[in-house]
Amino acid sequence: MNKGICRICGEYKDLTFEHVPPKSVFNNAPATIISGVELLKSVSDDDRLPWEFNKNSGKIQQRGKGGYYLCAECNNKTGHWYAGEYKKFVSALHYGIKQAGDKEYKAMGMKMVDIRPLAIFKQIMTMFVDINEGMLGDDSLRKYLLNPEKTEFNKDRYNLYAYLHTGAIERACGISILCSPLGMVTLTEISSYPIGLVLYIDKPKNYKPEGVEITSLCEYKYDDLADLEIIIPKLENNIIFPGDFRSKEEIKDCIKQTQEHMKDITEDST
Ligand SMILES: [Zn+2]
Repeated sequence: MNKGICRICGEYKDLTFEHVPPKSVFNNAPATIISGVELLKSVSDDDRLPWEFNKNSGKIQQRGKGGYYLCAECNNKTGHWYAGEYKKFVSALHYGIKQAGDKEYKAMGMKMVDIRPLAIFKQIMTMFVDINEGMLGDDSLRKYLLNPEKTEFNKDRYNLYAYLHTGAIERACGISILCSPLGMVTLTEISSYPIGLVLYIDKPKNYKPEGVEITSLCEYKYDDLADLEIIIPKLENNIIFPGDFRSKEEIKDCIKQTQEHMKDITEDST
């Protein structure tokens, strides 16, 4: 048994393995897990491209992606309240992708009927609380997630974005800071076929993230059934940095430019 602080109730308890994303959502096969530091080392040691990391430097987790984040009680409650509805949402995206087959597309329009938006939203927030220690610095999330009916949510602090996941890697990035011309951007990201999710915290107002914003899912009551129409863009993950959706070609160009720039500097200084 793993003992530790449950990331939702905050009590010191036996922790149980929790799948993130839920096991029912394409997360029941062995996954190679590699930390950011190991990945950067594996890439820079052998001069590999960011997505060609040495798989031996990661560890294989037989039961899928996840970790010991929650006590059994919080794991069961949130799973029971939220995971089923989230599965419907993700399965609809999967179905749309399968229907599209080999067709080229940049975004997909989806209409889902009779879904419960708040349950989906709370499942997503549960996953972000799982992968981040310290409740995202917001203790109000404890009551929010442990009471399915509770609707008070600090909308001014958070912006949630989604995209269809494609690319060479999947990401589970804890809170990170990105420097943009508009200021510091604080974000955390979970991406796994078929969906990527990015939660921005206190986002600079004029900063426009890629993806489709789905924060408004929080505006429903738990039992509300709604029809949801979204246009969800397809974005690539080829590098470990959260919020970075560059294609392999764009990354290669950037590496080439940097190398040329470094060469110029070296030549100038000799
Ligand atoms: Zn707990």
